[in-house]
Amino acid sequence: MAREKQKESSFEGKVVLVTGAAGGIGRAAAVAFGRAGACVVVADTSVDGGHATAAMIVENGGKALFVQCNVTRATEVEALIDKTVAYYGRLDCAFNNAGIEEEHLPLADAEEALFDRIMNVNVKGTWLCMKYEIRQMLKQGGGTIVNTASVAGLVGAPTQPIYAASKHAVVGMTKTAAAEYAREGIRINSVCPGVVNTPMMGRALEREPLREKKLRNVHPMGRFAEPAEIAQAAMWLCSEHSSFVTGHQLAVDGGLTAI
Ligand code: NAD
Repeated sequence: MAREKQKESSFEGKVVLVTGAAGGIGRAAAVAFGRAGACVVVADTSVDGGHATAAMIVENGGKALFVQCNVTRATEVEALIDKTVAYYGRLDCAFNNAGIEEEHLPLADAEEALFDRIMNVNVKGTWLCMKYEIRQMLKQGGGTIVNTASVAGLVGAPTQPIYAASKHAVVGMTKTAAAEYAREGIRINSVCPGVVNTPMMGRALEREPLREKKLRNVHPMGRFAEPAEIAQAAMWLCSEHSSFVTGHQLAVDGGLTAI
């Protein structure tokens, strides 16, 4: 019971930003942070989904602000951090989770526009978020950042070469920024999920329903993750419980990368 209480209250008063929080992993994380006492900023391009997540947090007794933001646009990301600080006074933790998937295509079949679209959101978006978050955290003397990479940032992902490249880039930025800002009190890590039961996965299975069984079986645990399981890992990396962890890529993958 005492342990449960400690977990539930570990973000009391902390200001936490979650991008891609209108659904899937981001929504689960935003709601979990809210339950743990955080003042949450819900950021997404989707207005309806973003407001719905903020409403869930408030219904649970938490604090939430929705800010519409396309993470590929520098002016919008800068404004997101400004609004966060104007509303809550600071930024303690950021979960840079917004990302898009790739239709399953071998490398030579993809078009240039697809490459640009994926790199823009997954790589440039993550870079822009870190850039403005770090500027704010430097002013405050510290903070924690978690980026959502993927198992496709750790190993190859046949038929998803551009997505895999984008997530390897997230891993590279995470490691590098972690080293750059370690002495400024900013810890930066990534979570690397296996396949997660979200709208993104739903879209992929709609395109190729026959892949479901095979996809489950690439995880030794024989199932997909639930969004809340990824949220818990991101929360641990954001929390003081991981105080000596930085530049780490935490696989939350049911054993997928163990074999
Ligand atoms: P999702 O599609 O269910 O949710 C992603 C959210 O990001 C959506 O609400 C969407 O509106 C938002 N978004 C997309 N582009 C954006 C932009 N330019 N600016 C702001 N918001 C934007 O996806 P999910 O499964 O919850 O994925 C979240 C993250 O987890 C992504 O980075 C994804 O690559 C990663 N991931 C997912 C899986 C999986 O199996 N679902 C596995 C590994 C990694």
